Amino acid sequence: MQHPSERPNSSDLIRGRTTVGDFELTILSDGWYLGDGGAMFGVVPKPLWEKRALADDQNRVLLGLNTVVVRTGRHTVAIETGIGNKLSPKLRDIYAAKAQLPHAFAAAGIRPEEIDIVINSHLHFDHCGWNTTQTPDGRVVPTFPNARYFAHRGEVEHGHLQLERDAISYISDNYDPLVGSGQMTLLDTRPGETTPIVPGISVECFPGHTAQLLAVHVESPGLTSTAQHACYISDLIPTSAHLDITWVMGFDLDPIRCIAERKRFYARAIPEQWLVLFTHDHHAPFGHIALNDKGKPVLQI
Ligand SMILES: [Zn+2]
Repeated sequence: MQHPSERPNSSDLIRGRTTVGDFELTILSDGWYLGDGGAMFGVVPKPLWEKRALADDQNRVLLGLNTVVVRTGRHTVAIETGIGNKLSPKLRDIYAAKAQLPHAFAAAGIRPEEIDIVINSHLHFDHCGWNTTQTPDGRVVPTFPNARYFAHRGEVEHGHLQLERDAISYISDNYDPLVGSGQMTLLDTRPGETTPIVPGISVECFPGHTAQLLAVHVESPGLTSTAQHACYISDLIPTSAHLDITWVMGFDLDPIRCIAERKRFYARAIPEQWLVLFTHDHHAPFGHIALNDKGKPVLQI
Protein backbone atom coordinates (compact mmCIF):
# COMPACT_ATOMS: atom_id res chain seq x y z
CA MET A 1 0.00 0.00 0.00
CA GLN A 2 1.22 3.46 -0.82
CA HIS A 3 1.90 5.87 2.00
CA PRO A 4 -1.02 8.29 2.48
CA SER A 5 1.19 11.32 1.89
CA GLU A 6 2.40 10.04 -1.47
CA ARG A 7 1.17 12.20 -4.36
CA PRO A 8 -0.26 10.58 -7.46
CA ASN A 9 1.93 10.48 -10.53
CA SER A 10 0.78 10.36 -14.14
CA SER A 11 0.55 6.56 -14.18
CA ASP A 12 -1.95 6.88 -11.34
CA LEU A 13 -4.19 9.01 -13.53
CA ILE A 14 -4.89 6.45 -16.26
CA ARG A 15 -5.68 3.13 -14.60
CA GLY A 16 -6.12 1.05 -17.72
CA ARG A 17 -7.44 0.70 -21.24
CA THR A 18 -9.38 -2.16 -22.76
CA THR A 19 -11.87 -2.90 -25.48
CA VAL A 20 -15.33 -4.42 -25.40
CA GLY A 21 -16.09 -5.48 -28.94
CA ASP A 22 -15.65 -2.32 -31.00
CA PHE A 23 -15.91 -0.01 -27.99
CA GLU A 24 -12.80 1.56 -26.42
CA LEU A 25 -12.72 1.90 -22.64
CA THR A 26 -10.30 4.16 -20.75
CA ILE A 27 -10.25 4.06 -16.95
CA LEU A 28 -9.35 7.46 -15.48
CA SER A 29 -8.78 8.23 -11.81
CA ASP A 30 -9.74 11.21 -9.67
CA GLY A 31 -6.79 10.06 -7.50
CA TRP A 32 -6.80 7.40 -4.84
CA TYR A 33 -8.29 8.32 -1.49
CA LEU A 34 -8.41 6.84 2.00
CA GLY A 35 -11.61 5.33 3.39
CA ASP A 36 -12.28 3.91 6.83
CA GLY A 37 -11.53 0.18 6.69
CA GLY A 38 -14.29 -0.73 9.14
CA ALA A 39 -16.90 1.16 7.14
CA MET A 40 -15.68 -0.41 3.89
CA PHE A 41 -15.95 -3.98 5.19
CA GLY A 42 -18.98 -3.74 7.50
CA VAL A 43 -19.26 -6.67 9.88
CA VAL A 44 -16.24 -8.53 8.48
CA PRO A 45 -13.58 -8.76 11.23
CA LYS A 46 -10.37 -6.83 10.57
CA PRO A 47 -8.12 -9.94 10.83
CA LEU A 48 -9.90 -11.17 7.71
CA TRP A 49 -10.14 -7.98 5.63
CA GLU A 50 -6.64 -6.71 6.40
CA LYS A 51 -5.25 -9.66 4.46
CA ARG A 52 -6.76 -8.01 1.38
CA ALA A 53 -6.48 -4.31 2.20
CA LEU A 54 -3.68 -2.86 4.32
CA ALA A 55 -4.77 -0.19 6.80
CA ASP A 56 -2.80 2.92 7.77
CA ASP A 57 -2.38 4.14 11.36
CA GLN A 58 -5.89 5.69 11.21
CA ASN A 59 -7.38 2.39 9.98
CA ARG A 60 -7.92 3.81 6.48
CA VAL A 61 -7.54 1.72 3.33
CA LEU A 62 -6.50 2.91 -0.12
CA LEU A 63 -9.40 3.24 -2.55
CA GLY A 64 -9.66 4.23 -6.17
CA LEU A 65 -12.06 6.64 -7.88
CA ASN A 66 -12.52 5.17 -11.31
CA THR A 67 -14.22 7.04 -14.13
CA VAL A 68 -14.72 4.92 -17.23
CA VAL A 69 -14.80 6.71 -20.59
CA VAL A 70 -16.42 4.61 -23.31
CA ARG A 71 -15.98 5.56 -26.96
CA THR A 72 -18.67 3.73 -28.89
CA GLY A 73 -17.92 5.36 -32.25
CA ARG A 74 -21.13 7.36 -31.99
CA HIS A 75 -20.94 8.55 -28.40
CA THR A 76 -18.31 9.34 -25.80
CA VAL A 77 -19.69 8.33 -22.44
CA ALA A 78 -18.29 9.06 -18.97
CA ILE A 79 -19.40 6.68 -16.23
CA GLU A 80 -19.01 8.32 -12.80
CA THR A 81 -17.10 11.53 -12.02
CA GLY A 82 -15.08 11.00 -8.80
CA ILE A 83 -15.02 13.24 -5.70
CA GLY A 84 -14.45 16.57 -7.42
CA ASN A 85 -13.28 19.86 -5.91
CA LYS A 86 -16.20 20.85 -3.68
CA LEU A 87 -15.42 18.97 -0.43
CA SER A 88 -15.03 21.02 2.73
CA PRO A 89 -11.40 21.27 3.93
CA LYS A 90 -12.27 18.93 6.82
CA LEU A 91 -13.63 16.17 4.57
CA ARG A 92 -10.84 16.69 2.05
CA ASP A 93 -8.39 16.02 4.86
CA ILE A 94 -10.23 12.95 6.20
CA TYR A 95 -10.30 11.31 2.76
CA ALA A 96 -6.95 12.69 1.51
CA ALA A 97 -8.88 13.55 -1.68
CA LYS A 98 -6.71 14.56 -4.65
CA ALA A 99 -9.14 16.12 -7.19
CA GLN A 100 -7.16 14.70 -10.14
CA LEU A 101 -9.81 13.88 -12.71
CA PRO A 102 -9.23 16.94 -14.98
CA HIS A 103 -5.52 16.00 -15.08
CA ALA A 104 -6.48 12.41 -15.94
CA PHE A 105 -8.61 13.58 -18.87
CA ALA A 106 -5.70 15.72 -20.10
CA ALA A 107 -3.22 12.85 -19.69
CA ALA A 108 -5.51 10.61 -21.76
CA GLY A 109 -6.01 13.28 -24.44
CA ILE A 110 -9.77 13.40 -23.87
CA ARG A 111 -11.32 16.86 -23.77
CA PRO A 112 -14.30 17.35 -21.40
CA GLU A 113 -16.14 18.92 -24.36
CA GLU A 114 -16.02 15.55 -26.17
CA ILE A 115 -18.14 13.85 -23.50
CA ASP A 116 -21.74 13.77 -24.67
CA ILE A 117 -23.14 11.42 -22.02
CA VAL A 118 -22.42 11.30 -18.25
CA ILE A 119 -23.93 8.54 -16.12
CA ASN A 120 -23.94 8.58 -12.30
CA SER A 121 -24.55 5.21 -10.64
CA HIS A 122 -25.83 7.10 -7.60
CA LEU A 123 -25.28 10.56 -6.13
CA HIS A 124 -22.93 9.98 -3.17
CA PHE A 125 -20.27 12.66 -3.42
CA ASP A 126 -17.54 10.19 -4.37
CA HIS A 127 -19.42 9.26 -7.57
CA CYS A 128 -20.62 12.58 -9.01
CA GLY A 129 -18.13 15.15 -7.66
CA TRP A 130 -16.87 16.37 -11.04
CA ASN A 131 -20.35 16.61 -12.55
CA THR A 132 -19.74 20.25 -11.77
CA THR A 133 -16.62 22.28 -11.08
CA GLN A 134 -16.28 25.00 -8.47
CA THR A 135 -14.45 27.93 -10.02
CA PRO A 136 -11.94 30.04 -8.03
CA ASP A 137 -14.60 32.74 -7.63
CA GLY A 138 -17.03 30.21 -6.11
CA ARG A 139 -19.35 29.57 -9.03
CA VAL A 140 -20.47 26.01 -9.87
CA VAL A 141 -20.41 25.18 -13.60
CA PRO A 142 -20.91 21.93 -15.55
CA THR A 143 -17.58 20.14 -16.07
CA PHE A 144 -18.87 18.55 -19.28
CA PRO A 145 -20.65 21.41 -21.08
CA ASN A 146 -21.88 19.35 -24.04
CA ALA A 147 -23.04 16.32 -22.07
CA ARG A 148 -26.46 15.06 -21.17
CA TYR A 149 -26.23 13.75 -17.60
CA PHE A 150 -28.22 10.76 -16.32
CA ALA A 151 -29.00 9.86 -12.70
CA HIS A 152 -31.85 8.18 -10.87
CA ARG A 153 -34.68 10.46 -9.78
CA GLY A 154 -34.86 8.62 -6.44
CA GLU A 155 -31.25 9.56 -5.68
CA VAL A 156 -31.96 13.27 -6.14
CA GLU A 157 -35.07 13.00 -3.97
CA HIS A 158 -33.20 11.02 -1.29
CA GLY A 159 -30.41 13.60 -1.26
CA HIS A 160 -32.92 16.39 -0.74
CA LEU A 161 -34.32 14.65 2.35
CA GLN A 162 -30.98 15.17 4.14
CA LEU A 163 -31.55 12.22 6.47
CA GLU A 164 -29.44 11.74 9.59
CA ARG A 165 -28.03 8.47 8.23
CA ASP A 166 -26.45 9.76 5.04
CA ALA A 167 -26.97 13.53 4.58
CA ILE A 168 -23.20 13.96 4.47
CA SER A 169 -22.98 11.80 1.35
CA TYR A 170 -25.09 14.19 -0.75
CA ILE A 171 -23.69 17.53 -1.97
CA SER A 172 -26.49 19.22 -3.87
CA ASP A 173 -24.13 21.30 -6.05
CA ASN A 174 -23.20 18.02 -7.75
CA TYR A 175 -26.66 17.65 -9.27
CA ASP A 176 -29.17 20.43 -8.45
CA PRO A 177 -27.69 22.96 -10.93
CA LEU A 178 -27.87 20.31 -13.69
CA VAL A 179 -31.43 19.34 -12.82
CA GLY A 180 -32.39 23.02 -12.71
CA SER A 181 -30.87 23.80 -16.10
CA GLY A 182 -32.42 20.72 -17.71
CA GLN A 183 -29.00 19.22 -18.49
CA MET A 184 -29.62 16.18 -16.24
CA THR A 185 -32.20 13.56 -17.17
CA LEU A 186 -33.72 11.79 -14.16
CA LEU A 187 -34.43 8.09 -14.58
CA ASP A 188 -37.22 6.07 -12.98
CA THR A 189 -35.65 2.63 -13.51
CA ARG A 190 -37.20 0.20 -11.05
CA PRO A 191 -35.29 -2.56 -9.19
CA GLY A 192 -34.20 -5.23 -11.67
CA GLU A 193 -35.23 -3.13 -14.66
CA THR A 194 -32.92 -1.94 -17.41
CA THR A 195 -33.12 1.42 -19.19
CA PRO A 196 -31.25 2.08 -22.47
CA ILE A 197 -29.18 5.28 -22.58
CA VAL A 198 -27.53 5.17 -26.04
CA PRO A 199 -26.93 2.18 -28.34
CA GLY A 200 -24.75 -0.30 -26.41
CA ILE A 201 -25.05 1.50 -23.07
CA SER A 202 -27.82 0.85 -20.54
CA VAL A 203 -28.38 1.04 -16.80
CA GLU A 204 -29.85 -1.61 -14.51
CA CYS A 205 -31.12 -0.97 -10.99
CA PHE A 206 -29.44 -3.09 -8.27
CA PRO A 207 -30.80 -1.80 -4.93
CA GLY A 208 -29.05 -2.23 -1.58
CA HIS A 209 -26.17 0.24 -1.28
CA THR A 210 -28.78 2.86 -2.01
CA ALA A 211 -32.40 2.20 -2.92
CA GLN A 212 -31.80 2.96 -6.61
CA LEU A 213 -28.15 2.07 -7.33
CA LEU A 214 -27.59 1.84 -11.10
CA ALA A 215 -25.05 -0.48 -12.70
CA VAL A 216 -23.97 0.43 -16.24
CA HIS A 217 -23.94 -2.21 -18.97
CA VAL A 218 -21.59 -1.79 -21.93
CA GLU A 219 -22.47 -4.18 -24.77
CA SER A 220 -20.78 -3.77 -28.12
CA PRO A 221 -22.21 -5.45 -31.18
CA GLY A 222 -18.64 -5.70 -32.56
CA LEU A 223 -17.21 -8.92 -33.90
CA THR A 224 -13.56 -8.23 -33.14
CA SER A 225 -13.41 -9.44 -29.55
CA THR A 226 -14.82 -12.18 -27.36
CA ALA A 227 -15.23 -9.73 -24.45
CA GLN A 228 -18.43 -8.05 -25.56
CA HIS A 229 -20.19 -7.28 -22.31
CA ALA A 230 -18.79 -5.15 -19.51
CA CYS A 231 -20.60 -3.96 -16.40
CA TYR A 232 -19.71 -1.10 -14.07
CA ILE A 233 -21.21 -2.54 -10.90
CA SER A 234 -20.44 0.50 -8.73
CA ASP A 235 -20.89 0.19 -4.97
CA LEU A 236 -22.72 -3.13 -5.10
CA ILE A 237 -19.19 -4.60 -5.32
CA PRO A 238 -16.84 -1.65 -4.77
CA THR A 239 -13.46 -3.45 -5.09
CA SER A 240 -12.10 -6.87 -5.94
CA ALA A 241 -11.62 -7.39 -2.17
CA HIS A 242 -15.43 -7.40 -1.82
CA LEU A 243 -16.29 -10.31 -4.11
CA ASP A 244 -17.57 -12.65 -1.36
CA ILE A 245 -21.32 -12.25 -1.35
CA THR A 246 -21.47 -11.40 2.40
CA TRP A 247 -18.57 -8.88 2.36
CA VAL A 248 -20.86 -5.88 2.01
CA MET A 249 -20.12 -2.38 3.30
CA GLY A 250 -21.12 -0.61 6.52
CA PHE A 251 -22.36 2.20 4.26
CA ASP A 252 -24.98 0.00 2.60
CA LEU A 253 -28.52 1.09 3.47
CA ASP A 254 -29.83 -2.47 3.04
CA PRO A 255 -27.04 -5.05 3.40
CA ILE A 256 -29.41 -8.02 3.13
CA ARG A 257 -30.63 -6.72 -0.22
CA CYS A 258 -27.01 -6.23 -1.32
CA ILE A 259 -26.34 -9.92 -0.75
CA ALA A 260 -29.40 -10.93 -2.78
CA GLU A 261 -28.48 -8.49 -5.58
CA ARG A 262 -24.89 -9.77 -5.69
CA LYS A 263 -26.28 -13.28 -6.23
CA ARG A 264 -28.49 -11.95 -9.02
CA PHE A 265 -25.48 -10.20 -10.58
CA TYR A 266 -23.16 -13.24 -10.38
CA ALA A 267 -25.84 -15.48 -11.88
CA ARG A 268 -25.23 -13.66 -15.17
CA ALA A 269 -21.78 -12.05 -14.85
CA ILE A 270 -19.92 -15.31 -14.15
CA PRO A 271 -21.37 -17.68 -16.77
CA GLU A 272 -21.53 -14.93 -19.41
CA GLN A 273 -17.93 -13.86 -18.62
CA TRP A 274 -18.72 -10.18 -18.21
CA LEU A 275 -15.80 -7.80 -17.77
CA VAL A 276 -16.56 -6.32 -14.34
CA LEU A 277 -15.49 -2.70 -13.78
CA PHE A 278 -14.86 -1.69 -10.15
CA THR A 279 -15.57 1.82 -8.92
CA HIS A 280 -13.14 1.92 -5.96
CA ASP A 281 -10.39 -0.57 -6.86
CA HIS A 282 -7.30 1.48 -7.70
CA HIS A 283 -5.08 -1.50 -8.51
CA ALA A 284 -7.54 -3.83 -10.23
CA PRO A 285 -10.04 -1.56 -12.00
CA PHE A 286 -11.50 -4.44 -14.00
CA GLY A 287 -11.41 -8.19 -14.41
CA HIS A 288 -13.47 -11.29 -14.97
CA ILE A 289 -14.97 -13.23 -12.07
CA ALA A 290 -14.91 -17.00 -11.69
CA LEU A 291 -15.77 -19.43 -8.91
CA ASN A 292 -12.83 -21.14 -7.21
CA ASP A 293 -12.82 -24.79 -6.10
CA LYS A 294 -14.63 -23.77 -2.89
CA GLY A 295 -17.35 -22.06 -4.90
CA LYS A 296 -16.23 -18.55 -3.91
CA PRO A 297 -16.07 -15.74 -6.48
CA VAL A 298 -12.49 -14.72 -7.31
CA LEU A 299 -10.95 -12.24 -9.73
CA GLN A 300 -9.31 -13.26 -12.97
CA ILE A 301 -7.44 -10.33 -14.52
ZN1 LIG B 1 -18.63 4.94 -3.41
